[in-house]
Amino acid sequence: MDNRRLLDALRTAAAGHGAEFVPEAVTDLDGKRVSTSARTVGADAVVLAAGAHSARLHPALADRVRPLKGEILRLRPRRTSLPPPRHTVRATVEGRPVYLVPRADGELVLGATQYEAGFDTDVTARGVRELLDAAERVFPALAEYTLTETTAGLRAGSADNLPYLGLLDDGVYAAAGHHRNGLLQAPVTAEAVLAWLAGAAPPRGVAGAHPDRTDSEESL
Ligand SMILES: Cc1cc2nc3c(=O)[nH]c(=O)nc-3n(C[C@H](O)[C@H](O)[C@H](O)COP(=O)(O)OP(=O)(O)OC[C@H]3O[C@@H](n4cnc5c(N)ncnc54)[C@H](O)[C@@H]3O)c2cc1C
Repeated sequence: MDNRRLLDALRTAAAGHGAEFVPEAVTDLDGKRVSTSARTVGADAVVLAAGAHSARLHPALADRVRPLKGEILRLRPRRTSLPPPRHTVRATVEGRPVYLVPRADGELVLGATQYEAGFDTDVTARGVRELLDAAERVFPALAEYTLTETTAGLRAGSADNLPYLGLLDDGVYAAAGHHRNGLLQAPVTAEAVLAWLAGAAPPRGVAGAHPDRTDSEESL
């Protein structure tokens, strides 16, 4: 799955259904009152889905969600290079996992490092070197590719690496802490959120993802 195309499609679909996007960051949540630097809005329900930043917005998540930095590289074959692999390649090189994901437009995505580095999203020389070294061992033709982009993002880590889904306060729900699997778990998360907002029961297994679970309880 191409995460960027997925997000573009999601934005378009949401806008088509009347969703309004506002540019300001939420600075405070007081029950169902949501404040930004520009406005305060009262809501019937609030879904807290701010990824690694969720901990700052609600005390119930304060010590539970932490940022886990990850770096990703994007490369393109040159005219004289071998083409990218036709399928995703996953490998472990000297104990570190690496994956190579070919995109339909010829791009090759390499991922991903994982560090405890707070909210730092700088791309480091070490991260780039580790990813290139590992990927080149698996696919030597990569050495001739053009490095087109380096990025770093933050996963939202939970204590047991499973998401926090459920009611925090009257009308305030959590949908955060998806760690390495937020795209994979997006459909079940969306189903759960829709069920809460409609006053219906969420899908099976979601009850085990409640933020008050103990780490040993079964989740998704
Ligand atoms: C390097 C890397 C590789 C990954 N690979 C995979 C993978 O292969 N498969 C997979 O399933 N998942 C993967 N993930 C994880 C996936 O990206 C996350 O689990 C997913 O993005 C979580 O979605 P989210 O909407 O909960 O949080 P996010 O995507 O972090 O989105 C949170 C949003 O909230 C916004 N926000 C934060 N604070 C505020 C505020 N105060 N006010 C308003 N808005 C705010 C942010 O700007 C952001 O738009 C990867 C993550 C990284 C970093």
